[in-house]
Amino acid sequence: MTFSIHGLAVARGIAIGRAVLVASTRLDVAHYFIEASQVAAEINRVRDARDAVVAEIHRLQTSIAQMGPKDTPQELTALLDVHLMLLQDEELSNGVRHWIKDRLYNAEWALTTQLEVVARQFDEMEDEYLRERKADLEQITEKVLRAMRGVSSPLVQPLGRHDRKKSQQDLLLDDTVDVPLILIAHDLSPSDMLQFKQSVFAGFITDVGGKTSHTAIVARSLDIPAVVGARLSSHLIRQDDWVVIDGDAGVVVVDPSPIILAEYGFKQRQGELQRGRLMRLLHTPAVTMDGQKVELLANIEMPEDAESALKAGAVGVGLFRSEFLFMGRHGKLPNEEEQFQAYKRAVEGMQGLPVTIRTVDVGADKPLDETLRDDAHLNPALGLRAIRWSLADPAMFLTQLRAILRAAAFGQVHLLIPMLVHASEIRQTMALIDHARVQLDNRGVAYGPIKVGAMIEIPAAALTLKVFLKYFDFLSIGTNDLIQYTLAIDRADESVAHLYDPMHPAVLRLVANTIEQGRAQGKPVSVCGEMAGDTSMTRLLLGMGLRSFSMHPAQILAIKQEVLRADTEKLGPWAEQVMQDDEPSKRIIKKA
Ligand code: PEP
Ligand code: MG
Repeated sequence: MTFSIHGLAVARGIAIGRAVLVASTRLDVAHYFIEASQVAAEINRVRDARDAVVAEIHRLQTSIAQMGPKDTPQELTALLDVHLMLLQDEELSNGVRHWIKDRLYNAEWALTTQLEVVARQFDEMEDEYLRERKADLEQITEKVLRAMRGVSSPLVQPLGRHDRKKSQQDLLLDDTVDVPLILIAHDLSPSDMLQFKQSVFAGFITDVGGKTSHTAIVARSLDIPAVVGARLSSHLIRQDDWVVIDGDAGVVVVDPSPIILAEYGFKQRQGELQRGRLMRLLHTPAVTMDGQKVELLANIEMPEDAESALKAGAVGVGLFRSEFLFMGRHGKLPNEEEQFQAYKRAVEGMQGLPVTIRTVDVGADKPLDETLRDDAHLNPALGLRAIRWSLADPAMFLTQLRAILRAAAFGQVHLLIPMLVHASEIRQTMALIDHARVQLDNRGVAYGPIKVGAMIEIPAAALTLKVFLKYFDFLSIGTNDLIQYTLAIDRADESVAHLYDPMHPAVLRLVANTIEQGRAQGKPVSVCGEMAGDTSMTRLLLGMGLRSFSMHPAQILAIKQEVLRADTEKLGPWAEQVMQDDEPSKRIIKKA
């Protein structure tokens, strides 16, 4: 039966494929397709791992039997029996075999897929005792996965054998391995998203997450259709269901009828044609109708993203979120050399164009490691994140600063500091930058000149620009956080996502004021939050005087199209009027 789920549109486009449900905790499991010739070996891999776990349980049972009856833990004995029973369960092993043989999933993927299928059956059981056996099932799966680690398998492989551009007709006929796959998870962390870059999935859906959560941001940078905040999707969608993601509307259609499928297939092709048309603007300079030059920069997460920035026609990197080098490393942070190499790769990748490297901005919805998620503090978004974290650990911060300064010897580097708000933080930061230079001098290591900029992403910063303009060479407005902190809306919380309004008059005033004051002092101002890549905001930002936009590479050409059609002489007075309005969003929609 066809039904739809409404969530938040985060990454545009249409994806059509089969659902792959993955427990959020098992995203680190490799997902790749095997060759038909590897089926038997892969089935053996699961069987051997399972046998090893069974043998381990038998050993445990023997040692328990050797204890006196008084010392025998009854509960443990019963638990081991249950584990043995589950390990030998036919449904589990037949299911795993099916995913390997018929779908060519690798062993780990097949096992976790079947786990999800069986776990759901447990969820639906009336009997509480049986329902609770789901936890045992998860435990034994974990054990088998661990046993399989001994029999190593390749990491996530680049794109599987499915062809994302298959026609709808083909999709309907082809029911086997060559269909796109859509990942469904309760939640995905930003670092999970990085793994996604090399994975087999053509789109994803999560139950939770806000529009400018970092998971959504990385999804946009991957340029694959995605919907977040789709509440119960991981419960309502079953393994292998056909699903359509409408990333523009934030809608998920489950089990679509052939007519619906055909409609979305049409929309998908239209989207591709539209992208093709935009490609014609690649070499056109971004200049408005009245001759104003506009700088279109890229936001990147990894040095390798420089390639897509260049391909999209970016004239530089306006925001390199360096924290992605620090995440998912189980507490072992990258040292100076590793960081230097990464920054240098980004700088060289941009072939002489400027690269703005933001110092590490972890915390809030970007924990260093999932296991270190900051639940201990009541409100991590207001806690020790970004520059606060860096200043709390000067040795770590100096390491990063030295690495960035060294990379500046290889090209134009701008240094960007996140989340500043106090004059004292600014002074401390400046002192540490000087100190990093002295350290490099003392070591006789070469480094290059840098411009230093501040992110304006806290209302208090936007209201005290004088001190920022005194110390910094440029400003970059982080609208994602500026909106979050101005409106008191957690950007990662889907339950208040409808109140996260980039066009709230207070937000617009803070943005306009920052642009105006920066320009008045002759200091460049850029916007690097999601607002910069939102075509419905381009004319307003141009009208406010903004001439530098930094966004995901995939958005650059669409924004360029808006720039080419704009006349800033007219947009200036219009923007003034919009900002006077009680509900500017209504005006923008009317005008657009
Ligand atoms: C922002 O806050 O707008 C920004 C660009 O930084 P981040 O999204 O990484 O917090
Ligand atoms: Mg921010």
